[in-house]
Amino acid sequence: MTVRSVNPATEELIEEFEPHSELDVDQALANAAERFQSWRLTSFDERAKLLHAAADVLDARKDDFARRMTLEMGKPLKQAVAETEKCAWVCRHYADNGARYLEDERIETDASASYVRNLPIGPVLAIMPWNFPFWQVFRFAAPALMAGNVGLLKHASNVWRSALNIEDVFSEAGFPAGCFQTLLIGSDKVENVIRDRRVRAASLTGSGPAGSAVASIAGDEIKPTLLELGGTDAFIVMPSADLEAAVATAVDGRTQNNGQSCIAAKRFFIHAEVYDTFRDQFVDKMKALRIGDPMREETQIGPLAMKSIRDDLAVQVEISITAGAKPLIPKMELPQKGYWFAPQILENAPDTAPASRDEMFGPVASLWKVSSLAEAIGRANDSEFGLGSAIFTNEKSEVETAIRDLDAGSTFVNSKVASDPRLPFGGVKSSGYGRELARDGILSFINRKTVSIA
Ligand code: NDP
Repeated sequence: MTVRSVNPATEELIEEFEPHSELDVDQALANAAERFQSWRLTSFDERAKLLHAAADVLDARKDDFARRMTLEMGKPLKQAVAETEKCAWVCRHYADNGARYLEDERIETDASASYVRNLPIGPVLAIMPWNFPFWQVFRFAAPALMAGNVGLLKHASNVWRSALNIEDVFSEAGFPAGCFQTLLIGSDKVENVIRDRRVRAASLTGSGPAGSAVASIAGDEIKPTLLELGGTDAFIVMPSADLEAAVATAVDGRTQNNGQSCIAAKRFFIHAEVYDTFRDQFVDKMKALRIGDPMREETQIGPLAMKSIRDDLAVQVEISITAGAKPLIPKMELPQKGYWFAPQILENAPDTAPASRDEMFGPVASLWKVSSLAEAIGRANDSEFGLGSAIFTNEKSEVETAIRDLDAGSTFVNSKVASDPRLPFGGVKSSGYGRELARDGILSFINRKTVSIA
């Protein structure tokens, strides 16, 4: 069945794609398996040169790639350009640091030499989402290729032009055919690919149900997985914080990418001493955000990526309000066409409401007053998720307590949670397992071979 790509700002058809047939997929897997046998023998220098070339292609074509991302999923163009630049950064990061990350680890034993050598494992399938159509893929692909693995991409069905553009980046950079291939397939075709003996592992970024389905199949086949799932990240503000910075970061953290980010701050716990000031400034700034055509330079909030995402969010907000949450921003007129959703802040959602429990994938913040750091941390941890967390404070002891007690894959102090090629990235609890980026990321799909020479 043809797959339609629709502009979420206008609901107009952009283009249609013919999915790959079973034969196409089989050929791609054969290419991947064959290429792996020669790619694994290439030197780090050769791989690094090609990753630098990929970064150069990204830089040279960033406006073109960014425009397509914005057309396909609605993020403001400026953010799409920044995303492409960040992809060039992660390619250069692994080109420059990959060999060091993968150095042999010498271990003293009774043998004349013993060490761990980090070897590639083969073709790895990446199942990726639409919210950062380039970044999520490159943060998987750059370390995988540098390590000597080859990549297969199953991208979300609404961003297939971006998927094909990413494949082009690697071929234009000079990577041999088969190193990185895009499979234009729906999620119903993923199981067979995971079960195929030529595929050695899978990495998924996306929702809990998708992660659970993929990990179950891979588990059945005894293949490793890395899961980067959703989050309901807490953002705590204490009395000693720089309030102006906290408010500005709260707005940015909640609304980047039109609010569709796993590491967006979603639940805000504000100390009673500064609550009223924080709330009033937060409301003013969220109200003032410029909603509109994501192609325009001045736009801060574009449409949500898909009708289903917009409709699901509307239901979550409605249920939360019915349950007792107070909306702090009056409803505003939005265009009839397009998947628009105006920024909203929900105050005092009860514990059972979606605004407290579920991931809200759009520009909606949930806000509560707390009387102590212990209360803030207790409520922050009362979630099935544990991706990122942020605290604004200038008290050293509070920083230490937050780092120790927040049950999350990261704690950012006086800034928003952000991914960075130099820092490991991932979550705990239902936010997934494994780490991407930095040294951890390149070790994710590796045979850590023990060598002992008598
Ligand atoms: P999904 O998790 O459904 O999609 C992410 C990727 O997984 C896509 O490539 C999708 O393919 C694929 N996929 C979905 N189900 C399966 C399956 N059973 N087996 C194999 N692959 C599968 O996300 P949605 O786009 O439906 O968004 C729903 C919610 O997920 C959001 O509201 C948000 O809460 C969360 N989400 C979190 C993201 C994150 O960054 N952590 C990113 C995106 C969503 P296809 O597109 O063909 O269905």
